[in-house]
Amino acid sequence: MEKKDYRVLLYYYYTDIEDPESFADQHLKFCKDIELKGRILVAKEGINGTVSGTVENTNKYMETMKNDPRFEGIVFKVDEHDGHAFKKMHVRPRKELVTLRLDENEDTDPKELTGEKLSPQEWYEAMQREDTIVIDTRNDYEYELGHFRGAVNPDIKTFRDLPKWVRENKHLIEGKKVLMYCTGGIRCEKFTGWMIKEGFEDVAQLHGGIVTYGKDPKVQGELWDGQCYVFDERLSVPVNRKEHVVVGKDYFDGEPCERYVNCANPECNKQILCSEENEHKYMRGCTHECRVSPRNLYVQKHNLSQEEIDRRLAIIAEEENVKQEA
Ligand SMILES: [Zn+2]
Repeated sequence: MEKKDYRVLLYYYYTDIEDPESFADQHLKFCKDIELKGRILVAKEGINGTVSGTVENTNKYMETMKNDPRFEGIVFKVDEHDGHAFKKMHVRPRKELVTLRLDENEDTDPKELTGEKLSPQEWYEAMQREDTIVIDTRNDYEYELGHFRGAVNPDIKTFRDLPKWVRENKHLIEGKKVLMYCTGGIRCEKFTGWMIKEGFEDVAQLHGGIVTYGKDPKVQGELWDGQCYVFDERLSVPVNRKEHVVVGKDYFDGEPCERYVNCANPECNKQILCSEENEHKYMRGCTHECRVSPRNLYVQKHNLSQEEIDRRLAIIAEEENVKQEA
């Protein structure tokens, strides 16, 4: 296979960073000097980032980080890519690395308390046992594109809704070994600690997250269905290298689909799964209002005349009438 010139690095590390603000300033300068692009969050509790750059520059970055005693032991998940996966470089100081907004007495420190870490192979075996429950800790739109076969979907809009979901669904969880997973592992490292504090005794997490699981030479992503949503321009990455089951569904007609687009109304910008055919048919608008928005980017890009817009709207309206009558 042809080697690609660029790489995407995904990483996090829970460690003590004394002054996140000044660290962020210096780190941004360093990243810009070696021409990286991406998004990095820095907090007193550590660092969380995705960056892209040339092979040479990403190597430089990883080396520098590993040589910093604060980040000793940091693990990078490395993907090859055709170019940058971001347009800009941001390093932002934050209160938390992952937004849970727990009260001080509820908050946990993953360096002190976290769930048992399972390797991909251990995870693969554990998730097939009957006394386990697999919980996806990610958001609803991430689950929709892909997830472990049989995993429970808490159907949350943001991570900070997860504690509430757990408390309301104790009956599902109690008496079972809890297996939790997320994209790269950062959310679970925090959340499995919270679970233990909450009184669940047997809580484990997929070490390195879905991304590591997909790269493992032995399991090769088996029992994962669909794609894995990622927070950069790639939008998704493959996981299961043994078989590919599509679980994503087209926003308009529910057909199997893994193609993400943004609603063409810039004020909406909602991310939807949508076939090329339906993109044209619906002028990439998620609602009627978005289709007729005077700023619709699809209409601008394709230079549609008012006549053509009206023609497409009429087709959609007619189909909706037929559906209502049926
Ligand atoms: Zn919209």
